[in-house]
Amino acid sequence: MNITGGISVIGAGTMGNGIAHVFAQHGFKVTLVDVSLSQLDRALATIGKNLDRMVAKEIIRKEMKEETLANITTQSNLIEGVKDAELVVEAATENVDLKLKIFEDLDHYAPKAAILATNTSSISITKIAAATGRADKVIGMHFMNPVPVMKLVEIINGYATKKEVTDSIVELSKKLGKVPCVVNDYPGFIANRILMPMINEAIYSLYEGVAGVEEIDTVMKLGMAHPMGPLQLADFIGLDVCLAILKVLHDGFGNPKYAPCPLLVNMVTAGKLGAKSGEGFYVYTAGSKELVPAHRSNAKAG
Ligand code: NAD
Repeated sequence: MNITGGISVIGAGTMGNGIAHVFAQHGFKVTLVDVSLSQLDRALATIGKNLDRMVAKEIIRKEMKEETLANITTQSNLIEGVKDAELVVEAATENVDLKLKIFEDLDHYAPKAAILATNTSSISITKIAAATGRADKVIGMHFMNPVPVMKLVEIINGYATKKEVTDSIVELSKKLGKVPCVVNDYPGFIANRILMPMINEAIYSLYEGVAGVEEIDTVMKLGMAHPMGPLQLADFIGLDVCLAILKVLHDGFGNPKYAPCPLLVNMVTAGKLGAKSGEGFYVYTAGSKELVPAHRSNAKAG
């Protein structure tokens, strides 16, 4: 199966706009679908800004901006948006019921031969596939944020995914200039199974008063050569997202080692979701980052 065109991306948020951008930049015709018209407008504006940045840094030719944008059309009606798709990449909100409904609809309205991929961070591919009548053509295509920059695509085989489908998604990812890694469908796949326990342990270290936010992040940055400390990374991902993924790991394996730290639970309950809410382990004001004093050290005692 050689995928040559007709890519539909469902969801025009953080990930959806990046996925549409990368496909379009590599010459694919993309239909970007979202229930929200304002989100579609925002996505096109973001893609335009990101392309400008790439032109300024001489990563792409000036003309490539217009060529890329010309490859993208937007659509708020799912039936219209997927009717000619060879591949659908779903990147809608991380909510299991929503995704099951979207895949039921995709199965009805996308051509019978189309591959249905999901960018989910943590929901079982096998479960999503079971909402369709074509489980052999359902696969995980997990791009990393920011999509135009990050090289990895974690490709996740559901229980029934056919080898030809995996092979064509591997080839396609290479055509996008990405490095594909194929893994099997178990909770958290590989990326989040390893990343989230590290972030959780960093939060536990803060909660138990072993060290403050700055010390924990500095140890991991300078000691382990991580570009960003785990607490700053958690803020960037979204603390609600981290909590949701830890719950998937905890429920999926039934192992207490994945239990989310009570401090993380409290912060999410209090609406401190990280960069997107303006405060998490750090305070975010107009693009700059400062430490939140309350979380500097010994949050459990404080
Ligand atoms: P987001 O909230 O930025 O965007 C989600 C978009 O989905 C919104 O624009 C919303 O309007 C749209 N949407 C909701 N219901 C829809 C429907 N029925 N049909 C079409 N569009 C619909 O979310 P995001 O951060 O882009 O995450 C999207 C997916 O990517 C999730 O599954 C998430 O787990 C995964 N993911 C996120 C990241 C990340 O760092 N943000 C990284 C990897 C994977």
